[in-house]
Amino acid sequence: MSTQGKKVAILGCTGSIGDTCFKVLDNLQGEFAIIGLSGGAKEEKLIQRALSWRPSQVCVMDEQARERVRSEVPEAEVLCGAEGLIEIATNPDVELVLNGLVGAIGLPPTMAALAAGKTVAMANKEPLVMAGGLVLQQARLGGGTVLPLDSEPNAIWQCLKGEDSKGLRRIILTASGGPFFGRSLEQMREISPAQALDHPTWKMGPKITVDSATLMNKGFEVIEASWLFGVEIEQIDIVVHRQSVVHSLVEFVDGAMLAHMGKTDMLLPIQYALTHPERREVPIEPLDLALLGQLDFAEPDRVNFPCLDLCYEAGRRGGTAPAALNAANEEAVAAFLAGDIGFLDIGDLNRRVLDDCKAEEVSDLDLVFAEDDRARRQAREWVASRQ
Ligand code: MG
Repeated sequence: MSTQGKKVAILGCTGSIGDTCFKVLDNLQGEFAIIGLSGGAKEEKLIQRALSWRPSQVCVMDEQARERVRSEVPEAEVLCGAEGLIEIATNPDVELVLNGLVGAIGLPPTMAALAAGKTVAMANKEPLVMAGGLVLQQARLGGGTVLPLDSEPNAIWQCLKGEDSKGLRRIILTASGGPFFGRSLEQMREISPAQALDHPTWKMGPKITVDSATLMNKGFEVIEASWLFGVEIEQIDIVVHRQSVVHSLVEFVDGAMLAHMGKTDMLLPIQYALTHPERREVPIEPLDLALLGQLDFAEPDRVNFPCLDLCYEAGRRGGTAPAALNAANEEAVAAFLAGDIGFLDIGDLNRRVLDDCKAEEVSDLDLVFAEDDRARRQAREWVASRQ
């Protein structure tokens, strides 16, 4: 293990966020040392990364993988499962945790890292969606900090630097619109998993790519942004911007707007989160505005993409409602990818589970996970009833 540089742990290091994190780390040679790495199904990739970056701890998700990684990477302590993620995230040597996990599994290690006073850079948006109030409370109590890695909240963070929050009127999140922008409901009924996984501008993992196709991902970003930037759900608007060049905007009370623009590459927000307040060169051609010619904006289609308004509703109701919606959606997306339900069923299933949620006030994580559990059971029953 190198002792030079800022000490980081990367959770979910073999997914698309992990891939980009390593590009950034390669670009900033010598400035970071890796203390911990976690990975799921892509064991070979995890082993290769552990061999070249030599972390002291590696976490896998099952015991079989643990044995294999142990024999390939004998120098590292090999941990396993949810407990292993927490151990890596709270390792006393770690200063910065990059959370590239997918889904609710990222919530406990995020809370633990913040309680231990770490900075947590989040690409994993589900923890803030499920329990944003608890996450931020934990950060305050433990002295930790939450930084946004994803392009839209990262853009807003950059636009708001040095601004007084009293002057902020609105946050405007841009949405690529996904691969099915402009289609009729009839056409959308037949969408296959392969079609939903083919995103026009961003290359991402399967869960978030389907969430982008349903616009659920954008709705989650509304809830996430309301926590991160301390604004009401109603102060956040969405505009479809097919080119994905404007990464988001803020509007102030005097009507002035600031937009964050740049190439469509996750390397940019991830590197900024790692180096801020400093900026570094990147191995990417800058944006050519004349070549681009124009920027297009449009209203999102709230009828064909009902998941967007479900997120607004869950955000307004608060309490356990966003956690229920998130759990239903994780189950719905898995069932869609498995071929068990259709694309439009994702919205129907999410609506049913949200309707049955009591939106109880969230005082601790147990309540959040109890609702997560209830919502998943309801979702699975509904999927089974359709077979
Ligand atoms: Mg995003």
